[in-house]
Amino acid sequence: MAIDVGGTRTRVAAEDGTVVRFPTEPDYDRQLALLRDAVQGRPEAVGVSFGGRVTEDGDVRVSLHLRAYEGRPLGRDLAAALGCPVRVAHDATCGLLGEHALGTLRGEDRCGYLTLSTGVGAAVRLGRGEHFVALTTEAGHQLVEGNDRRCGCGQTGCLETLLGGAQLRRRLGRGLEDVDDPRFWQVYAQRVAAGIANFALTAGLEAVAVGGAIAARRAELWPPLRQALADRLTYQAVRVHQAATEDAPLVGARVLAGTPPTSILH
Ligand SMILES: [Zn+2]
Repeated sequence: MAIDVGGTRTRVAAEDGTVVRFPTEPDYDRQLALLRDAVQGRPEAVGVSFGGRVTEDGDVRVSLHLRAYEGRPLGRDLAAALGCPVRVAHDATCGLLGEHALGTLRGEDRCGYLTLSTGVGAAVRLGRGEHFVALTTEAGHQLVEGNDRRCGCGQTGCLETLLGGAQLRRRLGRGLEDVDDPRFWQVYAQRVAAGIANFALTAGLEAVAVGGAIAARRAELWPPLRQALADRLTYQAVRVHQAATEDAPLVGARVLAGTPPTSILH
């Protein structure tokens, strides 16, 4: 079975396909109790997509949107609570695994996944068939010239300050779901395009899937984004897809449970 703990929402998918959703609890111990209650029966194995960087053992290293989780052994705590093996990976890496297994990145040997959600996450998958490595990157914190906004990561000028739902909510005083001004989305699309172009060119990617709630729910983002990418990427074309499902990290968490640990760089 699979669990997706995002910065804002949590989803728990049972083997029969039913999904339980609830807001992510900022308090780590309360979240553990909610997860324990949401899991029915005793699963054989659990894959967890998490909104932050983790170690190979599933300890939370950094989570800009769930700071109280940092340093906590999420993988081991869940394994003890659920009585089964638990694998944890960054949600961008899980989104990538999900899109490659069942979505728009099937068959791609050099591909990436960018999530536009509470934060901006990115992961890369290189390799063919069973011989691949999937790794988390910090492309969401690439530095944008002329941007003097302070990011939650401590840097100044990160892409996430321009695109991340949490940082924009604080600045705009409302969530992006309530922003209908077409000019806002034009500018937003230009910034996404530059971020994707740098991400793809740096890693030599041939295809990128864009997921997360913002990418899934703001249809007006896509026409100007495709136009901006066509205008900018005149040297090496990159196939950019809308992720097949908003649940890509959840799909990928299930894939993660059966992926060799050596194929994942956290
Ligand atoms: Zn940053």
